[in-house]
Amino acid sequence: MPENNKKLVVVTGAGGFIGGHLVAEFRRHGHKNIRAVDIKRLENWYQRFDDVENLSLDLNLRENCEIAARGADSIYNLAANMGGMGFIENNKALCMLSVLINTQMLQAALKHGVPRYFYSSSACVYNAEKQKTFEAPWLKEEDAYPAMPEDGYGWEKLFSERMCRHFREDFGLRTRMARFHNVYGPWGTWYGGREKAPAAICRKVVEAKMKGKSEIEIWGSGEQTRSFMYIDDCLKGIDLIMESDILEPINLGSSEAVTINQLVDIAEEIAGIELTRKYDLSAPKGVNGRNSDNTTIQQLLHWEPNTPLRVGLEKTYRWICDQYLARERSDAGVVREVYTASA
Ligand code: NAD
Repeated sequence: MPENNKKLVVVTGAGGFIGGHLVAEFRRHGHKNIRAVDIKRLENWYQRFDDVENLSLDLNLRENCEIAARGADSIYNLAANMGGMGFIENNKALCMLSVLINTQMLQAALKHGVPRYFYSSSACVYNAEKQKTFEAPWLKEEDAYPAMPEDGYGWEKLFSERMCRHFREDFGLRTRMARFHNVYGPWGTWYGGREKAPAAICRKVVEAKMKGKSEIEIWGSGEQTRSFMYIDDCLKGIDLIMESDILEPINLGSSEAVTINQLVDIAEEIAGIELTRKYDLSAPKGVNGRNSDNTTIQQLLHWEPNTPLRVGLEKTYRWICDQYLARERSDAGVVREVYTASA
């Protein structure tokens, strides 16, 4: 965390999953001066704190980025139009338009003399050729080039990484970049089409249990491999990377790779049920295999994300179960948390 907890910290995408948790983390560390920004109306933010300056602004627009950046000591740019495979495979143009957010935020940071800037990149920047096998290839930072990232979303992330790099080289803005690998945890999107695999699987298992169904639908063959990073590890990694001298984009992900079938096994075990699996081979499924090679982060930070998937998924499952029940009761959409200053 920035040493001086009175300096202004700006979190964009603060109405979303990781941004909301990051604001909560700054508060926990005693930060008094936090500006949280998101395009969503305040009542739709996943987490919202009354003692924080909350702004509902479209950061595609330069003038709004300037409002967001003014007076800041550091900016954590987590705003992007994103979702799981179902969203990014069907919304490539929308995903690429997030380039406007990072472009305008970088320029606003420069204009307002903001010293420090964090950019949230993604494992989707990695070359597709290196992710063809199901045996979870370990992706090292250099595997992003020659460039052949995920169409749409991945190209935007790769381009924006480079823009951060050149703003540092050419204009002296202190940029730091992390490539997140599948982040999961409570207070994330768990239904509606933008949810990612861990939340989608938990929701399907919860639903099967509540409704007495015996079947679960799985996208793809279930043999695709991924690693999943619990949100607490993501927050710790963001902090370590932002405070470090690491100039190049670095992996921030768990190296505990599992198949989607194994992810379902864990969710079933937590729920105490067994379901018949129905595979939808025509559904979006992404690359066949991917894992985070953590050699660099181990070498430079002597740490890597280490929450066991079983532990993080249990917390996520319980949270989704509560949300599901609350939603069934009220039929009023996702339950959100609003904290008062004393919370
Ligand atoms: P999220 O969708 O929950 O949060 C992103 C937030 O950005 C949303 O609340 C959205 O409303 C906001 N946003 C979108 N367009 C905006 C605009 N024009 N102006 C202002 N706000 C806008 O997603 P998340 O999981 O919290 O992801 C945060 C960041 O991390 C994103 O940049 C994402 O690409 C990156 N990332 C996430 C994962 C993951 O597994 N969650 C993996 C790799 C990278």
